[in-house]
Amino acid sequence: MSDFRDVRAVAGGTAFLTGVTGQDGSYLAESLLSRGWEVHGLVRQRPQAGPTVDGEMFIDGVHYHVGDLAKPSGLEAILRSVAPELVFNLGGISSVYQSWQEPYDTALISGASVVGMLETMWQVQQATGKQIRFLQASSAELFGDAEFSPQSEETPIRPVSPYGAAKALAHHAVGVYRGRGMFASTAILYNHESVRRPSKFVTRKITSAAAAIAAGKQDKLSLGNLAAVRDWGWAPDYVDAMDRIAHASEPDDFVVATGISHSVQDFVVAAFKAVGIEDWQRYVDVDESLSRPTDASEMRGDISKISSRVGWKPTVDFDELVAAMVRHDQALLAE
Ligand code: GDP
Repeated sequence: MSDFRDVRAVAGGTAFLTGVTGQDGSYLAESLLSRGWEVHGLVRQRPQAGPTVDGEMFIDGVHYHVGDLAKPSGLEAILRSVAPELVFNLGGISSVYQSWQEPYDTALISGASVVGMLETMWQVQQATGKQIRFLQASSAELFGDAEFSPQSEETPIRPVSPYGAAKALAHHAVGVYRGRGMFASTAILYNHESVRRPSKFVTRKITSAAAAIAAGKQDKLSLGNLAAVRDWGWAPDYVDAMDRIAHASEPDDFVVATGISHSVQDFVVAAFKAVGIEDWQRYVDVDESLSRPTDASEMRGDISKISSRVGWKPTVDFDELVAAMVRHDQALLAE
């Protein structure tokens, strides 16, 4: 039985987002604004006029607040003045690769800071008497190199990367504060992509290279582990899932995925095909330095719980996702 309030039917209130300039944060801000919500977001520095930096989107209508996720104590004044009904924590170090370069910062920004945020929200809620609903963007990296696929909310949490370990701390802390009485939920997000995906992620690296190679503007694409199998979904669908989870009648943990997985090589084949290149092997090198110390062989999510409890399912399949990203990168080259 579905137990969510239809997100489109909930009258606009006030939402506060971390990670508001990222892929998910920018889509969520646009969606909330279009439904009459007042949207506040945490940024490291005020938006600058000028061209958009890869992975940084500034949305008209968002109230930006300068702050630092690594110092959650500064959040208290912001949360008291904004007085949000909803807080979405989408910020932090979002790349597994980067977490191997900066493991301590990852633990601090994507892990310990969430403990600080939860405590701050708890204190604000106690002082004002107004409920705050909290949604943490958890990650499939919690499950590490899971023994079985698909993974569900019951799969043991055994991360194999500094990113996964940091996200596991945050995930457990949400459970602790939920036990204390907070409306705190998690979305255990599998890889989700879009035309706003920064090029440090493999999908965008592949689609932008395929477009550039087809246009004669790039010769080669160097990749790491082509055999990794991932469950890739469409980011706006995953933002809709997080919105629905935040509006559910009870707080809980939900896997957000498509239930279908493909290898990195499948992604390469599909992207090159979309630009009219069948002999992709001519253009792709394997560079071992791009492989990670440990990398899960397959990640695939079981979406039974979110489908039945929150009424969510993905709307964009793998081929549509690849085609949309490639079309966008071709259009950028034509500008
Ligand atoms: P992640 O799952 O959040 O780390 O997302 P990524 O898009 O960075 O990586 C997805 C998968 O692609 C991982 O298994 C990577 O090891 C694999 N992969 C293979 N080659 C590359 C590459 O050149 N860059 C990145 N980022 N990932 C790669």
